[in-house]
Amino acid sequence: MLKRFAVFIVLFFSVSSLFAHQFLIHIFSLKTVHAATVNMSRGSYSLYHDSTLLTTFQQGETLKFEVEGSKMRVHFKGTSKLLSHFKLKGEDYLNNFKIGVAGEARTYEDNLVCRMEVKTILLLNDVELEHYIAGVVESEAGLRAAPEYFKLQAILCRTYALKNIERHSLEGYNLCDNVHCQAYYSKSSKIPDILKATTATNGLIITDERFDLINATFHSNCGGETCNSEDVWLTPLPYLRAVKDTFCVKSRNARWKKKMSKEQWHKYLRSIDVPAELDTTVDGEEVYFSPDGRQASFYFPGKAVKTTKIRTDLKLKSAYFKVQMVNDSVFIQGRGYGHGVGLCQEGAMQMAKEGYAYNQIIQYYFTGVFIVNLNALEFFKEE
Ligand SMILES: [Zn+2]
Ligand SMILES: [Zn+2]
Repeated sequence: MLKRFAVFIVLFFSVSSLFAHQFLIHIFSLKTVHAATVNMSRGSYSLYHDSTLLTTFQQGETLKFEVEGSKMRVHFKGTSKLLSHFKLKGEDYLNNFKIGVAGEARTYEDNLVCRMEVKTILLLNDVELEHYIAGVVESEAGLRAAPEYFKLQAILCRTYALKNIERHSLEGYNLCDNVHCQAYYSKSSKIPDILKATTATNGLIITDERFDLINATFHSNCGGETCNSEDVWLTPLPYLRAVKDTFCVKSRNARWKKKMSKEQWHKYLRSIDVPAELDTTVDGEEVYFSPDGRQASFYFPGKAVKTTKIRTDLKLKSAYFKVQMVNDSVFIQGRGYGHGVGLCQEGAMQMAKEGYAYNQIIQYYFTGVFIVNLNALEFFKEE
């Protein structure tokens, strides 16, 4: 009954926009910013200090600023002002600005907020959710994929953004622009399919059975089998279950190899308290670790070690591997790339290429989830 009610709401309220979705994203977050130049590349902008309008800019005009003492010296139209913070607000239907910091230029949509921190400048893109999502898909998904893949990536990135909206709230913004949150290196501009995919899935997000946003995690390649969330992190989540994946096994990151000397391997085993020379030998032969599928633990005689720990310690591409001893060498042969939880990107790309729809692909990798419209969800959650 609950589900039927939700479907009713999705159908009847998905066209309305009950909430504004404006995000503050910390841009150039990996740089220490002392100065920047901004060009109004599309539309006109107003410069505000709190609610005071200082000036307006037409398309093509420029503003510069740099640190001066504990404030910023802001240069515009032949004059300058010393400010601790300001906002450049777009005044047209579509507004872009190009911002240059230490030799790197990027273009973003909507507004720019600048705040003086201790000796450095905090740059924030005050951006509408859908504009942000298109920029993230272009930064995260790369440039070559089927249109259906861009749709599901947009839904994943939107779900992540909303679930993590408070990740940087103590620092006064929502998300950062590097991989700590989601990569966001510019507005979307290179691939028309990305803008189309974002528009086609406008507002769509993924929820669990209780209509809570899911942890929409993804990785590069699962190697043929994804894993349960508790095998990598501690929490078992009903929608992050292991699934067999036949779509990614021929992709770029499906297989990897690492060779070590027996000496290095034994040294490693001793470092994790596995008595290498004695207990890994059964009937005079070295024990081979060659499981049929993914394993949460590597079972040495008398001791289990988590494969995720071995992955981290030996800097392996994944925790899905087998180990073989040949003479004085140890060969670790692995499958996949990444943590293996949730959606497998290369598998999803292949599914999209083979004609599967975005909802089929999402429901293949995330068990028992719903794809619903954000506005409908918020309305439903208010009930
Ligand atoms: Zn972050
Ligand atoms: Zn896969």
